[in-house]
Amino acid sequence: MVQKSETIWFDGKQVPWDEANVHVLTHTLHYGAGVFEGIRAYECADGSSEVFRLEEHMGRLVNSAKILGIKVPYTAEELTEAAIETLKLNKLAGAYIRPLVFIGEGAMGVHPGDNPIRTIIATWPWGAYLGEDALEKGIDIKTSTFNRHHVNVMMTKSKACGNYVNSVLAKTEAVADGYHEAVLLDTTGHVSEGTGENIFIVVNDVIYTPCVDGVLGGLTRDSILSMANDLGYETREEPLTRDMLYIADEVFFTGTAAELTPVSSVDRRQIGNGLAGPVAKLLQSEYFKVVKGENPDYEHWLHRYQV
Ligand code: PMP
Repeated sequence: MVQKSETIWFDGKQVPWDEANVHVLTHTLHYGAGVFEGIRAYECADGSSEVFRLEEHMGRLVNSAKILGIKVPYTAEELTEAAIETLKLNKLAGAYIRPLVFIGEGAMGVHPGDNPIRTIIATWPWGAYLGEDALEKGIDIKTSTFNRHHVNVMMTKSKACGNYVNSVLAKTEAVADGYHEAVLLDTTGHVSEGTGENIFIVVNDVIYTPCVDGVLGGLTRDSILSMANDLGYETREEPLTRDMLYIADEVFFTGTAAELTPVSSVDRRQIGNGLAGPVAKLLQSEYFKVVKGENPDYEHWLHRYQV
């Protein structure tokens, strides 16, 4: 259950949580043409707070909408300010932030006509997405029977609501089969991503991740690649196959919600010693230092605020 906060920013106004409702004929509810973001705010060691890569998340939101032909009625800068206002109003020193742009009611055909474009920003406290244990001990994943989107079927560079039907199918299947999470192959059979995470493997201290062709260009993926390079690791973005996961020294997921979650097994094949590997552990602890404002080298990724 999501923990309620006081207000949700809704079309430019702060609305009490329980009153932030829509009509059942909301276009996006029927056809899935809406876009969203997942952003995290962290409480820093010095008592301030920060939102991680906030401007870039809002930029991606606007671009996601552009891909679907939706004109967001606000600029990325206005949405950035609105997110900070909402966090402060809800007195949230750390939080998950969920902006959503959707097509409102009006025309009911697939063509949305001039239905209003509506925007919300909700904020709530949210702990580790895959569980605290997962961050330390790792998770068991399975290769999904569902393929990830072909790039010309769904728009994979858009964080579009409808794209997540595929994620829900894969996640539900994985959980029903006794796994924590799924990894999906693309339609050529190559490894793509998790249901809400990018995937990495480590082989002989070299860090590999699939190219962004058919996957969401994750901001955590980008942060981890930069940090790994800065730490002196060789990183390669290239196609990966399912069996490469099985024999990798380490496998891990990255994402705003999942942060850096190690993978202990893939399709019941243990990875390494079945616990977080040394590279994943190091990058995870460096990542937490960065998002908690403890590494000045990456201060440019932080949007500081004070509750
Ligand atoms: N892939 C998918 C399908 C996702 O939903 C997410 C989460 N937004 C990611 C990757 C990771 O992206 P980010 O690091 O920007 O959260």
